Amino acid sequence: MNTTIVGYPRIGKMRELKFAIEKYWRGEVTEAELKETAKTLRSEKLKKQKQAGITISPVNDFSYYDGMLDLAVMLNAVPERYRKLNLSPLDTYFAMARGYQGEHGDVKAFAMKKWFNTNYHYMVPELENGMELKLQADKLFAEYEEAKALGVCPRPVTIGAYTFLKLAVAENGVAKESYVEPVKKAFQELLQECEKRGVEWIQIDEPALVLDMDSADKKLFCDLYQDILSAKGSVKVLLQTYFGDVRDCYQEISKLAFDGLGLDFVEGKYTEKLIQENGFPADKYLYAGIVNGKNIWKCDYDKKLKLIEELKKTTDKLVLTTSCSLLHVPYTTKSEKKLSQDILKYFAYAEEKLEEIHELAELSEKDYTKEEAYQKNVSVIQSERGMKDEEVCQKVAALTEKDFVRNVPRVERQKLQRERMGLPLLPTTTIGSFPQTKEVKANRSRFRKGEITKEQYDEKVFAFIKECVEEQEKLDIDVLVHGEYERNDMVEFFGENFGGYVFTEHAWVQSYGTRCVKPPVIFGDVKRIEPITVKYSQYAASLTNRPMKGMLTGPVTILNWSFPREDVSHKEMAFQIGLAIRQEVLDLEAAGISVIQIDEAALREKLPLRKAEWHSDYLDWALEAFRLCHSGVKPETQIHTHMCYSEFDDIIKDIDAMDADVITFEASRSKLEILDALKEVGFETESGPGVYDIHSPRVPSVEEIVGAIRKMLEKIPKEKLWVNPDCGLKTRGIPETEASLKNMVAAAKIVREELK
Ligand code: GLN
Ligand code: ZN
Repeated sequence: MNTTIVGYPRIGKMRELKFAIEKYWRGEVTEAELKETAKTLRSEKLKKQKQAGITISPVNDFSYYDGMLDLAVMLNAVPERYRKLNLSPLDTYFAMARGYQGEHGDVKAFAMKKWFNTNYHYMVPELENGMELKLQADKLFAEYEEAKALGVCPRPVTIGAYTFLKLAVAENGVAKESYVEPVKKAFQELLQECEKRGVEWIQIDEPALVLDMDSADKKLFCDLYQDILSAKGSVKVLLQTYFGDVRDCYQEISKLAFDGLGLDFVEGKYTEKLIQENGFPADKYLYAGIVNGKNIWKCDYDKKLKLIEELKKTTDKLVLTTSCSLLHVPYTTKSEKKLSQDILKYFAYAEEKLEEIHELAELSEKDYTKEEAYQKNVSVIQSERGMKDEEVCQKVAALTEKDFVRNVPRVERQKLQRERMGLPLLPTTTIGSFPQTKEVKANRSRFRKGEITKEQYDEKVFAFIKECVEEQEKLDIDVLVHGEYERNDMVEFFGENFGGYVFTEHAWVQSYGTRCVKPPVIFGDVKRIEPITVKYSQYAASLTNRPMKGMLTGPVTILNWSFPREDVSHKEMAFQIGLAIRQEVLDLEAAGISVIQIDEAALREKLPLRKAEWHSDYLDWALEAFRLCHSGVKPETQIHTHMCYSEFDDIIKDIDAMDADVITFEASRSKLEILDALKEVGFETESGPGVYDIHSPRVPSVEEIVGAIRKMLEKIPKEKLWVNPDCGLKTRGIPETEASLKNMVAAAKIVREELK
């Protein structure tokens, strides 16, 4: 049986590509040196795949920044503003990725968006008036030839025409439809060129097929591929889907002239059912995505082998592959030197997943229960991880309706809170963190290296807090924060203080461009071991008479930014974390903290791709997990939440149903459209749509902020409006932070006067 993968990580085992690209940007290495590094990384990965017994390798899954951006370049969809810079092709590419400011001009980058339900971000292609689309596939073919020379069997891959057209944005006044024909033609040329070069298989990724499709979408897809495939000649085309199932178009894609269908058997809830009910087309290969491309756990051989047996009954043209590109997992567990074998034995990163696919293919051709590889896997999968916590499980099991509701209605609470806190109209506050200066970082790194004790470390943190509180009083901010100097990351910090979490050294995953994240791993049942933030908040509160906000991360965000377990449900994990945060909330309250913020920066991120599943599969329990954190506080304790975006028009009722008293969110960049939606639904939660953008060092003027507040007042009643920046200040410097906050407070005071 043939084995393959959908794609491979490209950032490098030790993030070599990241560092090389960043050096190139700083002018420390030449283009040729960067390309050499890239080439070495590509050849290493192909060798790895070959060694592991993978029989066909995807190529052109490599990228200097992003695959969607590569496709835009391949289609010559380079907007005029970048062409005009007159840079080299590589620099033009990077200008599209990150913008350009220099002697050749000043242009903004493509927008960036989350890639389906992952934490990877793609560059949003732009369709511009007069843009001449045509095929420019040098990169794809260069990587194909390069791989062939290495003696592997390469299959070029690209994102497909449909996903491109669905995700691209068209310039104002440009109809996307007018690009259907040119895109089609470019893809036809691509297939013809493949034939000329003797390419056997090409992989076309169409993840947009797992989204809800209406009849116009289906028509567009069929129209595109009827014509594209008519040009394929002797080239075999694999239609690759991932991140879900193709329930809306299985019939259609079965009938089209594809030679292989790549289906996701991990996230695709209906994939098996679709095949059972409709059969699998006899003329096509089934690329069965059975090894999870998104997690770090070994797969359950027994389950997978049974599935393979089933599939073999429907088709004799079976190829084993991953559920999606391995882009979303780290390189190899071999780099983890600090984790014990008791933990590592459960893990499989990209390299180990290659071995799994190969082993599964071999085992499936044998009487596998007798094989050592099978038995070894079964013994790992069935072994007890030793992080079971009966008490936590029982507590979760015992939760009832009332654990998710605050018993005093929000309107009444808000009244009590106003009386208690005596705040002015348009109260000012910040989102939590203050600049993480060199000194703050040095303190942490000294502690991590063991150069100072925890006591010495905390002593410094307390000193930073003191300064921060004094500064805020000087600025005359109404609701203060302690500055979050004890944490560098809003999820890692809590994970480190929870039981059940495990931390890796090298489990880096690309988030966008050269940026990688290293999510912590939920290994067992999660619980709080002791109070985490209380002493910091309590100390901060002791320094002032103003309300001090306690600062926590919410359960959904902690879960979404971790590698989750596979042996329990997401709901179970969210509730466990919710219980841990709840304890912290109650301890903060008991320590006299009257305002507590529970950040849910990643709430929207894992919203299911299909609308019908938003509530049943996600929001129902996600909102409960959030409410579990705060349902136990007194009515006069004010609960805030924060989100780093404002695109929640479509789940606005759900945001209100979090039952927080106040929400702050990012609105300064997104043209405040959300305000209409808030007004329309009669949004109950008091709101602080950020009055300025903290993502740039620019200092907003008083007038500008006054303008923003006035605009907000058109849609939000004055009793419900808060004034704050749009996100935490940790990435900013001190000078611009103080200047901006000063203007913000001045602006709030001016508008307050107007309201009198
Ligand atoms: N409280 C966090 C901070 O201020 C929130 C960060 C975030 O929203 N990403 O940094
Ligand atoms: Zn934020």
